[in-house]
Amino acid sequence: MKKIYDLSPEIRPDMISWPGDSCPEITLLHSIKYGSHSNLSRLTMTLHNGSHIDAPHHFFEEGIGAGEIPLEILVGDVRVLRFGGVKTITRKMLEHADLKGVTRLILATDNESLWKKPDFDENYTYIDIGAAQYLTEIGIRLLGIDYLSVEDFQGLDGVHKHLLSQGVVILETLQLAGVPEGDYELYCLPLKLGKVDGAPARVILIERD
Ligand SMILES: [Zn+2]
Repeated sequence: MKKIYDLSPEIRPDMISWPGDSCPEITLLHSIKYGSHSNLSRLTMTLHNGSHIDAPHHFFEEGIGAGEIPLEILVGDVRVLRFGGVKTITRKMLEHADLKGVTRLILATDNESLWKKPDFDENYTYIDIGAAQYLTEIGIRLLGIDYLSVEDFQGLDGVHKHLLSQGVVILETLQLAGVPEGDYELYCLPLKLGKVDGAPARVILIERD
């Protein structure tokens, strides 16, 4: 049987969220314990809690929404590359990596250790603008990373804007501990929302033959 890697953290109230973003809430509206014939819960969350895609509309008013992103980009071959011991992933590092023919790329970094902390840590690994430009030059259509943003915490570098303006789907808040470097089949299926800035997605990788 092919191995499946689940890259999505569990959506729960105490999960790590971006500073200023609210945390998910799950409220039991009807409870069997209190006489209802079924349990029924309500989930309240932002579109960027948990693993999610960023749509161009996140940074551009006229940009397309999460629901308008073609499934053809979100499902298919993906390469997982590991970058240990670095905080900023640069153009040079990516130039040295083998990305020939790759259109979907997921970066596994030291960020995986940050998931063991209870709170958000702004000293995470990210890509700089040079790296973002390189990825669009070589035709990357989807870029994933193993923390809450592809861009540094201050976000002054324009990485999100560059990638989204070039139609690259950004996939954030992935957990990649134990996922070996290599090629996989990616299934990223965002909630079917319309012209909105992002969408929570269950993200899995399936081992290839
Ligand atoms: Zn986001």
